[in-house]
Amino acid sequence: MSQFSFSHLGSAVHIMSGAIRKQDFLTYFKKFSLIESTETSVTLGVVSSFHKDNLSKKFYDEIKSAIVSVCPGIEVVDFAVDERIDVRPETEVVDCRLAHKNQEKQTKKEQVEWVQIVEWVNSRLVSDRYQLGNFIVGPSTQLAHAACDAVARKPGASYNPLYLYGNVGLGKTHLLQGTANAIRAKHKNLRVVYTTADKFLTDYVASIKGRSIDKLRERYRQIDVLVLDDVQFLAGKKQTQEELYNIFNILYEAGKQIILSGDRPPKELTELEDRLQSRFEWGITVDLGEPDYETRLAIVQEKCRAREFLLASDVTEFIAENVTTNVREIEWVLNQIIAEHDLKGTPPTLENVALRLSKLSIRSLATSVTSSRTFRSTHCSYEDLIQAVSGHFGIEIRTLLSEDRKKENMIPRQVAMYLLKNKLNYTYERIGNIFSGRNHTAVMYSCKKLESVMKKDQQVVYEVNVIRDKLGI
Ligand code: ADP
Ligand code: MG
Repeated sequence: MSQFSFSHLGSAVHIMSGAIRKQDFLTYFKKFSLIESTETSVTLGVVSSFHKDNLSKKFYDEIKSAIVSVCPGIEVVDFAVDERIDVRPETEVVDCRLAHKNQEKQTKKEQVEWVQIVEWVNSRLVSDRYQLGNFIVGPSTQLAHAACDAVARKPGASYNPLYLYGNVGLGKTHLLQGTANAIRAKHKNLRVVYTTADKFLTDYVASIKGRSIDKLRERYRQIDVLVLDDVQFLAGKKQTQEELYNIFNILYEAGKQIILSGDRPPKELTELEDRLQSRFEWGITVDLGEPDYETRLAIVQEKCRAREFLLASDVTEFIAENVTTNVREIEWVLNQIIAEHDLKGTPPTLENVALRLSKLSIRSLATSVTSSRTFRSTHCSYEDLIQAVSGHFGIEIRTLLSEDRKKENMIPRQVAMYLLKNKLNYTYERIGNIFSGRNHTAVMYSCKKLESVMKKDQQVVYEVNVIRDKLGI
């Protein structure tokens, strides 16, 4: 057991200043000196009998407990007026006001730091739109989702690190943020940080410039769950990789959970240091594949539900059939359809949606959408084209294809021929066959004629473009 020393006194006064009301502390606590001490008792010098009386009557318990907490053997605390207290050197006197100021400063500093950490932890990068619960699980994402779920339940326990990889738009960010959100909800005491490799790089560079690299390290050391998205951005960034490597090791050894994502498996991250690569592989690596039809359909339905937008089932099926490789694109298409509806009042019928998709060059429009829901990836058929031209100009197909020489039918017929020639690559002969067996020079003449008309007449160009848009050609 140690004897109560002057440095014990400093620490004890520090504690008192935090434990006693500010007003009382400033009134009754002025200076302390150390008159006498043993392993079990201590006599404190004070400035006057006024102080001695008050301290020993009003604040005895607080003072004693502060002293015992720094020097557990003390049983008796006594006070004596120290006549020489004002002339003693600094090294023999504890100035209570100073102690109080320091205490306040420290509390403020701690508060600021804490606020900074909390802000950082709840970083703006995370959206609560992404939840594990609203991620539609399909065969190509089942494993990834299950791993995230397991990690969210017991962070640091099983899959550590968890590394997800896959092409863009397949749900990596959704799963990472969803896991971060789930951990936050389930384990309120854990400090969960989501950041992207890109952001990490920026922070790192800024901290180097601002000479605050220690602060950055300190922050990362306090993390319980680190979620780092898109690690491929670290390719070739040697120094940043080094820093991440160190942080990784510290967290990993402390049993903290690490979750990562990349656009390819760790092995293929060629410009990543070998040791970092191998760290990424320590736990479990899971790939995200393209969703199959059923999953896409469920995703379309879920996104509509979330947006409170109603789509007929033939339309949702149509989207699921035609937007195949990227979930982000499914969302994008839906946004277009919803915007068309909200801003222009376009109803989301199968025809309108098909048209919209063809305009977005998702697929070129093929046969009449009602007869086949899936676009053919090649060009549309001549029947579609004829039908579209006839519909656009309001003349019957029969008339359009006939040999009549009425002036009002000339332009529509020329447009149909022109498009068959230039957009569907039909030969003049074949077009002639379609148009009542005309010979090919007549067809050629018609096409050239339209070209020259289009050079002069913007209205005709417009009509042609409307039809092209409609057909997606
Ligand atoms: P990545 O990070 O792999 O590029 P994201 O996670 O950003 O992809 O996904 C793109 C968009 O698609 C996001 O808005 C996400 O919510 C959505 N998304 C992707 N996969 C699914 C899924 N299986 N269920 C629901 N939404 C998904
Ligand atoms: Mg992403």
